[in-house]
Amino acid sequence: MRLSRYFLPVLKETPAEAQIASHRLMLRAGMIKQQQAGIYSWLPMGYKVLKRIEQIVHEEQIRAGHIPLLMPTLQPATLWQESGRYDAYGPEMLRIRDRHDRDMLYGPTNEEMITDIFRSHVESYKSLPLTLYHIQWKFRDEVRPRFGVMRGREFLMKDGYNFDLTKEDALHAYNRHMVSYLRTYERMGLTAIPMRADSGPIGGDDTHEFLVLAETGESEVFYDAKVPELKLGKRAVDYDNRDEVAGICEEFTTLYARTDETHDEALFNEIPEERRKVGRGIEVGQIFYFGTKYSEPMGATVNTPDQGKVPVHMGSHGIGVSRLVGALIEANHDEKGIIWPEGVTPFHVGIVNLKQGDVSCDSACEALYRAFVEHGLDPLYDDREERAGAKFATMDLIGLPWRITVGPRGIAANKVELTCRRTGESEEMSAEKAVEKVA
Ligand code: ATP
Ligand code: MG
Ligand code: MG
Ligand code: MG
Repeated sequence: MRLSRYFLPVLKETPAEAQIASHRLMLRAGMIKQQQAGIYSWLPMGYKVLKRIEQIVHEEQIRAGHIPLLMPTLQPATLWQESGRYDAYGPEMLRIRDRHDRDMLYGPTNEEMITDIFRSHVESYKSLPLTLYHIQWKFRDEVRPRFGVMRGREFLMKDGYNFDLTKEDALHAYNRHMVSYLRTYERMGLTAIPMRADSGPIGGDDTHEFLVLAETGESEVFYDAKVPELKLGKRAVDYDNRDEVAGICEEFTTLYARTDETHDEALFNEIPEERRKVGRGIEVGQIFYFGTKYSEPMGATVNTPDQGKVPVHMGSHGIGVSRLVGALIEANHDEKGIIWPEGVTPFHVGIVNLKQGDVSCDSACEALYRAFVEHGLDPLYDDREERAGAKFATMDLIGLPWRITVGPRGIAANKVELTCRRTGESEEMSAEKAVEKVA
């Protein structure tokens, strides 16, 4: 992409309404525009990051054997009356009436609808296990939408639902979700810690939240200093192997890590004092096992050879896709701007032409651009007629992992400058070498 033809409405001033770094930087870098409280347009660069996150979430869900579909945002009230949640959900639910006076709602989550799909099409235990998921916009009329996309009213969520014959099968699905979530966050360059959580209004027995450590997080967290060091790394996971998957879950949940809701001071004090950490975290996902809470009242049953019709065991599992954009920036920025991890960056590399219109600089930049495209990378070429300082400031603000600077003096010596956004280190080298390093 050439910056002169792109739509990147960068703000010079720091927006006064934004209280935390990620919100400020998303507005300044032209990633989002607020349309109403907690409701945002995703401008091109923000949309690109959102799509990259979505793609990683899809890949890891499919790898775990979970099947994507798409449910609508609007749901009929009748489904929620069946589960008993229509009244229970309260003012966070946006309720709408259509021209025929039918009550509808903008879905805050999809347990009822997926259960309805299941009961309409599945009859036999032979169709199990089954996990269906979608990535769809949700609406929750939050009392205090704030921190930009971190607590929006309209937000993008991946929500998946498992259907299993027995509790043990459903717990395997739970474990599969835990491991696939760990992989998902790691691929984004994030450390998200699974913490035992409170089951709250969805109800149920087992639940973990995934928290990214950040001072601006809304949850207070208590953990063993060894926990953030745990990494899944590149190990191959056989998601059908129950013991293997359960073993990984055990590895990641045995050391103490809890939010304030489930914190147990006595247990916490058993950790050696120098390893006891208290901090704040951003909830970027949550997994639940809730048994037959929805299948029973809504009649989601399967025929079995020995017990007749039985209600299925279910769980629901969510990732805050749009919140992750904010969480990633909270965890990756400095005073100059964003520092994208490679896994989610909107462009892989920025090319800065210090003397636009100079034949040798222009052609060197064009050649670099083509070379990156040939390597399957997505470069952003700042080809505007701007001062070097303004070009550098924009690149630092939008935070691409690499910047290549092309100027007349360097080109005369067959050199460009390669700068790493994260370390700030620059090195002169030939254009070919620079392409090699970035690719
Ligand atoms: P919170 O405690 O932050 O209100 P939640 O526990 O109500 O979140 P869940 O029902 O567990 O949310 O939804 C799954 C995921 O969706 C959350 O882990 C979070 O990452 C994301 N999410 C929830 N509410 C919002 C929101 N208002 N804006 C953006 N993302 C959200
Ligand atoms: Mg909430
Ligand atoms: Mg929560
Ligand atoms: Mg939650």
